[in-house]
Amino acid sequence: MIHEHRVLNPATEELVATVPATSAAEVSTAVARAAEAQRTWAALAPADRARLLRRFAVLVDDHGERLARLEVTEAGHTLGNARWEAANVRDLLDYAAGGVERLTGRQIPVPGGIDITFLEPLGVVGVIAPWNFPMPIAAWGVAPALAAGNAVLLKPAETTPLTAQYLARLALEAGLPEHLFQVLPGAGDVTGRALVEHPGVAKIVFTGSTRVGKEIMAGCADRVKRLTLELGGKSPNIVFADADIETAAATAPMSFLDNAGQDCCARTRILVQRSVYDRFLELLVPAVASVVVGDPSDEKTQMGPLISLAQLERVRGFVPDGADGIRGSAPTGPGFWFPPTVLTGVAPDAPVATEEVFGPVAVVLPFEDEEDAVRLADATEHGLAGSVWTRDVGRALRVSRAVRAGNLSVNSHSAVRYWTPFGGYKQSGLGRELGPDALAAFTETKNVFISTEA
Ligand code: NAD
Repeated sequence: MIHEHRVLNPATEELVATVPATSAAEVSTAVARAAEAQRTWAALAPADRARLLRRFAVLVDDHGERLARLEVTEAGHTLGNARWEAANVRDLLDYAAGGVERLTGRQIPVPGGIDITFLEPLGVVGVIAPWNFPMPIAAWGVAPALAAGNAVLLKPAETTPLTAQYLARLALEAGLPEHLFQVLPGAGDVTGRALVEHPGVAKIVFTGSTRVGKEIMAGCADRVKRLTLELGGKSPNIVFADADIETAAATAPMSFLDNAGQDCCARTRILVQRSVYDRFLELLVPAVASVVVGDPSDEKTQMGPLISLAQLERVRGFVPDGADGIRGSAPTGPGFWFPPTVLTGVAPDAPVATEEVFGPVAVVLPFEDEEDAVRLADATEHGLAGSVWTRDVGRALRVSRAVRAGNLSVNSHSAVRYWTPFGGYKQSGLGRELGPDALAAFTETKNVFISTEA
């Protein structure tokens, strides 16, 4: 059994920290303490819970630069991205705090009395987070779950536990009850599994691979445990001949190179209408070459390294030696670097065209017409996001409605927003996070009838 995890800087391979792993017995203790803290928390007046969450948000803001630098060191994120990520946690906490006093039930007309519903907290919620956006993805679960009156146990990914631990210290400093929000670093199949199997954990929020998501779903089924899954993506970027081709080509690289492609919404399947295919490729070459790849702590850098050697090897496995395409540059020497890569001449059903690579690799495929574009866009088990480039409003809406994915952008590769819903169709997930209903996902609806006849 692993007793500690080594956290490496992915840009240099230097050891940053060693973090003790949480055993299954320690998970049990944490659940018991969290359950007690949850009762105290849920008994507070809504305004007091909201105030404490806002105080937590203020501390995250005060410590934003340190959190961002820590994210650069443990995850290899560019400084610009890491600053956005810390700010996103702050905003999520503020947004969730605004929901505490608005988490209202309904009054439903019935004969002989009144009928009212209550949105009750679930109790203890387990959040199992990945390494690709350690801070924001953790906060997508943590902030609304706390706001809805729950306790939260967060298991960060093995490679990125440090920002999570920092956030838990800030929560305590803000005055949240002790043990209400605990971070439990450890291996997925020990600490993560213990959260899934523990009867005292009412819901699991998981973001990560589709393979592990299916295992967790099976584990939750045993106890009919509540579950939200945010899994992989293989999102299309559909460019029609009537689009602004220059802008579509100029923006295509960062739509899959951001975070070195380790983004579940990365637009890694660039589908281009055949009549503008050659022109688009001509424009794409300089756009890919201009992406600045290097030291993530340099403010000008647009793309950093991959998270680990394992991830680098996985990405390499998808790209055959000598494959046709466009390649950017990447540093050599220490660090887990892979250059921006766009493959051409790939069969639409090749693994690199249908499976999530989670690296800076995209394919370009031609299509004939609108129907063909939608067919190709849907030719994967995933359905998380997608972009549609066209000047025809009707087509933009038709194609956005037709593609079986949860998050579409027209003439944009819009990022995830904390105040709009996010989640996947098909094997990209189950349930939705963020948006106006985020808190409700961490409650049970209770219906109470009161007779006026007795
Ligand atoms: P993963 O799914 O193995 O890990 C995600 C989280 O789940 C981690 O915290 C891990 O410790 C935990 N976990 C692993 N096994 C578990 C189990 N049996 N029970 C409970 N928790 C468990 O992802 P990975 O191995 O880090 O990455 C592999 C691939 O997954 C990537 O290449 C990418 O394709 C995909 N991925 C997708 C996302 C996303 O945002 N959708 C995030 C990370 C990884």
